[in-house]
Amino acid sequence: MARYTDPVCRQCRRIGEKLFLKGDRCYTPKCAVDRKKYPPGMHVSLRRRRPSDWGIQLQEKQKARFTYGVLERQFRRYFEAARDRSGVTGEILLQLLEGRLDNVVFRLAFVDSRRQARQMVNHGHFSVNGKHVDIPSYQVKPDDTIAWRTKGESSHQEFIKNLTVDIPKRPVPDWLRLDTENLTGQILSLPETSDIDTGIDSRLIVEFYSR
Ligand code: SF4
Repeated sequence: MARYTDPVCRQCRRIGEKLFLKGDRCYTPKCAVDRKKYPPGMHVSLRRRRPSDWGIQLQEKQKARFTYGVLERQFRRYFEAARDRSGVTGEILLQLLEGRLDNVVFRLAFVDSRRQARQMVNHGHFSVNGKHVDIPSYQVKPDDTIAWRTKGESSHQEFIKNLTVDIPKRPVPDWLRLDTENLTGQILSLPETSDIDTGIDSRLIVEFYSR
Protein backbone atom coordinates (compact mmCIF):
# COMPACT_ATOMS: atom_id res chain seq x y z
CA MET A 1 0.00 0.00 0.00
CA ALA A 2 1.43 3.34 -1.04
CA ARG A 3 1.88 5.94 1.66
CA TYR A 4 3.61 9.23 2.31
CA THR A 5 7.02 8.62 3.89
CA ASP A 6 8.66 12.10 4.02
CA PRO A 7 8.68 14.01 7.32
CA VAL A 8 5.10 15.18 7.87
CA CYS A 9 6.20 18.58 9.18
CA ARG A 10 7.25 19.40 5.62
CA GLN A 11 3.59 19.15 4.65
CA CYS A 12 2.64 21.86 7.16
CA ARG A 13 5.53 24.04 6.00
CA ARG A 14 4.49 23.60 2.38
CA ILE A 15 0.95 24.74 3.19
CA GLY A 16 2.27 27.46 5.51
CA GLU A 17 0.10 26.61 8.50
CA LYS A 18 -0.16 24.08 11.29
CA LEU A 19 -2.08 20.96 10.26
CA PHE A 20 -1.57 19.26 13.64
CA LEU A 21 -0.29 15.99 12.18
CA LYS A 22 1.96 15.03 15.09
CA GLY A 23 -0.24 15.21 18.16
CA ASP A 24 1.24 16.79 21.28
CA ARG A 25 4.41 17.98 19.55
CA CYS A 26 2.33 20.43 17.47
CA TYR A 27 1.55 22.41 20.64
CA THR A 28 5.21 22.77 21.68
CA PRO A 29 7.96 25.19 20.55
CA LYS A 30 9.40 22.23 18.58
CA CYS A 31 6.73 22.73 15.89
CA ALA A 32 8.52 23.20 12.54
CA VAL A 33 6.01 25.80 11.30
CA ASP A 34 6.84 28.00 14.30
CA ARG A 35 10.58 27.48 13.94
CA LYS A 36 10.93 27.77 10.15
CA LYS A 37 8.51 30.23 8.66
CA TYR A 38 9.39 29.42 5.04
CA PRO A 39 8.60 26.52 2.67
CA PRO A 40 10.80 23.39 2.71
CA GLY A 41 13.52 22.91 0.10
CA MET A 42 17.05 24.14 -0.59
CA HIS A 43 16.38 26.95 -3.05
CA VAL A 44 13.32 28.66 -1.70
CA SER A 45 12.57 32.32 -1.48
CA LEU A 46 11.90 33.37 2.10
CA ARG A 47 9.00 35.48 0.85
CA ARG A 48 5.86 33.63 -0.18
CA ARG A 49 4.54 34.95 -3.48
CA ARG A 50 0.84 35.71 -3.77
CA PRO A 51 -0.65 32.55 -5.33
CA SER A 52 -3.03 32.56 -8.31
CA ASP A 53 -6.67 31.45 -7.91
CA TRP A 54 -5.63 28.01 -9.13
CA GLY A 55 -2.76 27.98 -6.62
CA ILE A 56 -5.17 28.78 -3.78
CA GLN A 57 -7.52 25.98 -4.85
CA LEU A 58 -4.62 23.54 -5.21
CA GLN A 59 -3.33 24.49 -1.77
CA GLU A 60 -6.73 23.83 -0.19
CA LYS A 61 -6.93 20.41 -1.83
CA GLN A 62 -3.43 19.60 -0.59
CA LYS A 63 -4.32 20.81 2.90
CA ALA A 64 -7.28 18.40 2.99
CA ARG A 65 -5.14 15.56 1.67
CA PHE A 66 -2.37 16.13 4.18
CA THR A 67 -4.80 16.59 7.07
CA TYR A 68 -6.53 13.26 6.47
CA GLY A 69 -3.40 11.46 5.20
CA VAL A 70 -4.90 10.53 1.83
CA LEU A 71 -2.92 10.05 -1.38
CA GLU A 72 -3.75 11.92 -4.60
CA ARG A 73 -5.59 9.17 -6.43
CA GLN A 74 -7.63 8.16 -3.41
CA PHE A 75 -8.55 11.79 -2.76
CA ARG A 76 -9.84 12.14 -6.31
CA ARG A 77 -11.96 9.02 -5.77
CA TYR A 78 -13.47 10.65 -2.67
CA PHE A 79 -14.26 13.71 -4.75
CA GLU A 80 -15.88 11.64 -7.52
CA ALA A 81 -17.94 9.69 -4.97
CA ALA A 82 -19.09 12.99 -3.40
CA ARG A 83 -19.94 14.47 -6.80
CA ASP A 84 -22.05 11.40 -7.70
CA ARG A 85 -24.20 11.71 -4.58
CA SER A 86 -27.11 14.12 -4.26
CA GLY A 87 -26.36 17.12 -2.08
CA VAL A 88 -23.61 19.70 -1.77
CA THR A 89 -20.46 18.07 -3.16
CA GLY A 90 -18.01 19.89 -0.86
CA GLU A 91 -19.98 18.99 2.26
CA ILE A 92 -20.29 15.33 1.24
CA LEU A 93 -16.56 15.25 0.48
CA LEU A 94 -15.74 16.42 4.01
CA GLN A 95 -18.26 13.95 5.42
CA LEU A 96 -16.58 11.07 3.57
CA LEU A 97 -13.16 12.12 4.86
CA GLU A 98 -14.45 12.49 8.43
CA GLY A 99 -16.17 9.11 8.19
CA ARG A 100 -12.91 7.21 7.68
CA LEU A 101 -12.28 4.78 10.52
CA ASP A 102 -8.82 6.22 11.27
CA ASN A 103 -10.29 9.71 11.56
CA VAL A 104 -13.05 8.44 13.88
CA VAL A 105 -10.48 6.76 16.13
CA PHE A 106 -8.66 10.11 16.27
CA ARG A 107 -11.89 12.07 16.84
CA LEU A 108 -12.82 9.72 19.69
CA ALA A 109 -9.58 10.93 21.26
CA PHE A 110 -8.24 7.39 21.55
CA VAL A 111 -4.90 8.52 20.07
CA ASP A 112 -2.92 11.74 19.52
CA SER A 113 -2.98 12.06 15.74
CA ARG A 114 -4.66 10.67 12.61
CA ARG A 115 -1.32 9.20 11.62
CA GLN A 116 -1.16 7.22 14.86
CA ALA A 117 -4.81 6.22 14.41
CA ARG A 118 -4.06 4.90 10.94
CA GLN A 119 -1.21 2.80 12.28
CA MET A 120 -3.31 1.42 15.13
CA VAL A 121 -6.15 0.49 12.76
CA ASN A 122 -3.68 -1.11 10.35
CA HIS A 123 -2.26 -3.19 13.18
CA GLY A 124 -5.70 -4.55 13.98
CA HIS A 125 -6.37 -2.85 17.31
CA PHE A 126 -10.00 -1.92 16.56
CA SER A 127 -13.30 -3.57 15.83
CA VAL A 128 -16.48 -2.14 14.33
CA ASN A 129 -19.70 -3.69 15.66
CA GLY A 130 -17.66 -6.53 17.10
CA LYS A 131 -15.92 -7.36 13.81
CA HIS A 132 -12.20 -6.94 13.33
CA VAL A 133 -11.53 -4.10 10.83
CA ASP A 134 -7.97 -3.14 9.85
CA ILE A 135 -8.76 -0.83 6.93
CA PRO A 136 -8.13 2.84 7.81
CA SER A 137 -10.40 4.07 4.99
CA TYR A 138 -13.37 1.97 6.20
CA GLN A 139 -16.47 4.22 6.19
CA VAL A 140 -18.40 4.25 9.45
CA LYS A 141 -22.20 4.63 9.61
CA PRO A 142 -24.58 5.98 12.24
CA ASP A 143 -25.03 3.49 15.12
CA ASP A 144 -21.70 1.76 14.48
CA THR A 145 -19.72 0.97 17.61
CA ILE A 146 -15.92 1.24 17.56
CA ALA A 147 -14.01 -0.66 20.23
CA TRP A 148 -10.45 -1.57 21.15
CA ARG A 149 -9.77 -5.22 20.46
CA THR A 150 -8.33 -7.04 23.42
CA LYS A 151 -6.46 -10.19 22.53
CA GLY A 152 -5.82 -12.86 25.12
CA GLU A 153 -2.13 -12.26 25.91
CA SER A 154 -1.35 -10.22 29.02
CA SER A 155 1.42 -8.32 27.17
CA HIS A 156 -1.17 -7.07 24.68
CA GLN A 157 -3.54 -6.06 27.47
CA GLU A 158 -0.72 -4.15 29.15
CA PHE A 159 0.08 -2.46 25.82
CA ILE A 160 -3.54 -1.32 25.42
CA LYS A 161 -3.68 -0.24 29.06
CA ASN A 162 -0.65 2.02 28.61
CA LEU A 163 -2.07 3.49 25.42
CA THR A 164 -5.46 4.22 26.89
CA VAL A 165 -4.34 6.10 29.97
CA ASP A 166 -5.91 9.59 30.05
CA ILE A 167 -8.60 8.86 27.48
CA PRO A 168 -10.23 11.03 26.30
CA LYS A 169 -7.13 12.92 25.32
CA ARG A 170 -9.22 15.76 23.81
CA PRO A 171 -12.89 16.84 23.68
CA VAL A 172 -15.00 14.49 21.55
CA PRO A 173 -17.28 16.08 18.87
CA ASP A 174 -21.08 15.96 19.22
CA TRP A 175 -21.62 13.44 16.42
CA LEU A 176 -19.75 10.78 18.44
CA ARG A 177 -20.30 9.33 21.89
CA LEU A 178 -17.39 8.01 23.92
CA ASP A 179 -17.88 5.46 26.67
CA THR A 180 -14.75 5.91 28.77
CA GLU A 181 -15.68 3.02 31.05
CA ASN A 182 -15.67 0.41 28.27
CA LEU A 183 -13.41 2.37 25.90
CA THR A 184 -15.90 2.23 23.06
CA GLY A 185 -17.24 4.90 20.76
CA GLN A 186 -20.56 5.16 18.99
CA ILE A 187 -21.43 7.07 15.81
CA LEU A 188 -24.53 9.11 16.65
CA SER A 189 -24.87 10.75 13.22
CA LEU A 190 -22.77 11.73 10.25
CA PRO A 191 -20.89 15.00 10.87
CA GLU A 192 -22.29 18.31 9.67
CA THR A 193 -19.89 20.86 8.18
CA SER A 194 -20.18 22.87 11.39
CA ASP A 195 -18.84 19.84 13.34
CA ILE A 196 -15.61 19.80 11.34
CA ASP A 197 -12.89 22.03 12.76
CA THR A 198 -10.14 21.49 10.18
CA GLY A 199 -10.68 24.91 8.57
CA ILE A 200 -10.81 23.36 5.10
CA ASP A 201 -12.81 25.36 2.54
CA SER A 202 -14.40 22.55 0.53
CA ARG A 203 -15.73 25.00 -2.10
CA LEU A 204 -12.17 25.69 -3.23
CA ILE A 205 -11.57 21.95 -3.66
CA VAL A 206 -14.73 21.60 -5.76
CA GLU A 207 -13.57 24.55 -7.88
CA PHE A 208 -10.16 22.89 -8.26
CA TYR A 209 -11.64 19.70 -9.69
CA SER A 210 -14.24 21.55 -11.77
CA ARG A 211 -11.74 23.46 -13.92
FE1 SF4 B 1 2.75 20.45 11.62
FE2 SF4 B 1 2.66 19.43 14.04
FE3 SF4 B 1 4.94 19.33 12.63
FE4 SF4 B 1 4.03 21.62 13.64
S1 SF4 B 1 4.74 19.83 14.78
S2 SF4 B 1 4.82 21.31 11.60
S3 SF4 B 1 1.80 21.39 13.38
S4 SF4 B 1 3.01 18.29 12.14
